[in-house]
Amino acid sequence: MQQDSNPLDPPVRVIPSRRRRRTVAARLRSGVLELMVPASMPLAERAHWAEVMRRRLLNRAHRSVPSDERLAERAQRLNKRYFDGRLRWLSIGFAEMQHQWGSCTFTEGTIRIAKRAASLPDWVLDYLLMHELAHLVHSDHATGFHDLEDMYPLSERARGYLMALDRPPVME
Ligand SMILES: [Zn+2]
Repeated sequence: MQQDSNPLDPPVRVIPSRRRRRTVAARLRSGVLELMVPASMPLAERAHWAEVMRRRLLNRAHRSVPSDERLAERAQRLNKRYFDGRLRWLSIGFAEMQHQWGSCTFTEGTIRIAKRAASLPDWVLDYLLMHELAHLVHSDHATGFHDLEDMYPLSERARGYLMALDRPPVME
């Protein structure tokens, strides 16, 4: 159950540039924090800037996405009980979704649960969360994924519950 990289701690790639004089720029690309620095910058200073830019990016990401206390609390409880508290994510929150109950952006570590799921019973909501949490480990729906999802003992029942509603349990 290893992740490729912790979304809260992206690997940093330093790219020295001869054209740069003093300024440092950073961007997040496929889960890697790329740091463009002047070629003349000493290593210690590069490391310092890597840390500064990492925090700046994360702060910006946190501000730009909605978070919901109830979801965050339940997800953390599931994380402790079924994943030994090892999972990390950047944000979790309700969002407007037409055709899905939830989604998980594996590379960014953002989990979204459909707003209409807020009225579901807690044990069904927990199933939706388990599904998306399992995606932090497996991006696809292969066998390993279902083993994780089914650690939650009410998964099967929850799938039936969702099936009985108007909408089938579509999730990404
Ligand atoms: Zn899925």
